[in-house]
Amino acid sequence: MRHEALAIEKEAERLLGKLMHVDCDPRGRSWNLGSCRDIAPITLEINRLKKEKDAVVLAHSYVEPEIIYGVADFMGDSFHLSVKARESRAKVIIFAGVVFMAETAKILSPGATVVVPDRGSGCSLADSITGEDVRKLRALHPDATVVCYINSTAEVKAESDVCVTSGNVYGIVAALPASRIIFVPDRLMAENLRVELRRRGVDKQVVSSDGTCIVHDEFTLGQVEAAREQFPGLRVVAHPECPAEIAAAADFVGSTGAMMRYVKETTAPYFLMLTECGLVGRLEVEAPEKRFIGGCRLCPYMKLNSLDKVLDALRAPRDDQIVTLDETLRGRAGRCIERMFELAPTD
Ligand code: SF4
Repeated sequence: MRHEALAIEKEAERLLGKLMHVDCDPRGRSWNLGSCRDIAPITLEINRLKKEKDAVVLAHSYVEPEIIYGVADFMGDSFHLSVKARESRAKVIIFAGVVFMAETAKILSPGATVVVPDRGSGCSLADSITGEDVRKLRALHPDATVVCYINSTAEVKAESDVCVTSGNVYGIVAALPASRIIFVPDRLMAENLRVELRRRGVDKQVVSSDGTCIVHDEFTLGQVEAAREQFPGLRVVAHPECPAEIAAAADFVGSTGAMMRYVKETTAPYFLMLTECGLVGRLEVEAPEKRFIGGCRLCPYMKLNSLDKVLDALRAPRDDQIVTLDETLRGRAGRCIERMFELAPTD
């Protein structure tokens, strides 16, 4: 009993060492030893079960900080986590993120049992288009190369020629021989892609579908201007899922991984992060000397993940939590992702 109490106290102190820095908490919690003691038995049990079941937890940077710093073996953006899924030899992958990411893990690590904590963790972008929609676009533009953003379902990847991330999209599209590109599912990233191709002097027509990310499409120019006025010296950091006028007004635009690197390497009095709040939480832990002025937004799908659901998924996953894919579809989607790794081995 005493041994158990000591283990909980030690775990609470470990958690507090990380979580005490999180100001931008999705539930407005302030982390202290008491709140860390409350979750310590759950993180201890998850970490014990991971060993027993030969499991790893992959956590996207947008999920809650107690998952990232309590139980994740790997944390990061879609690209980084897909690399980890591809390298993984674990029997079980618990994917704390959204369903399309878990599908990507299953595509790249077909021998593993891939489990999502909450099957409702969809994505406004990924769910905006079907494989049938891609086939129709291809029929309209038979000469085009179909490029899908990694934020897409396995079905859409299976219908596409090459997958891209927010970090490698410009380089991969610029290098493709086709002069016409069908880009799915993000209309706003397609707009940013057109701007960047023009800037690089690359002549290509980009046809896009109409999806948007409900987090990134809500930022406004007024918000950026008001923040710059109030905080002189402010650096505005945006994700390429934001509208083109926001990208143009930002000091830096890049994938979540690139945004983190930029903030860590840049000296400025304040940062405005035009992305999901989870990334701000990570930066508060990993670069506690930096100052963030708020303004980020929450993704309701990512926030469906919780420690309790991760524990359930690990203990006895329900059928609806286990990701299954038709083998032919998995093979076709896998070729689309492998093409990305061939063209851009690093993000
Ligand atoms: S942040 Fe946007 S792109 Fe990412 S999961 Fe949420 S809705 Fe989808």
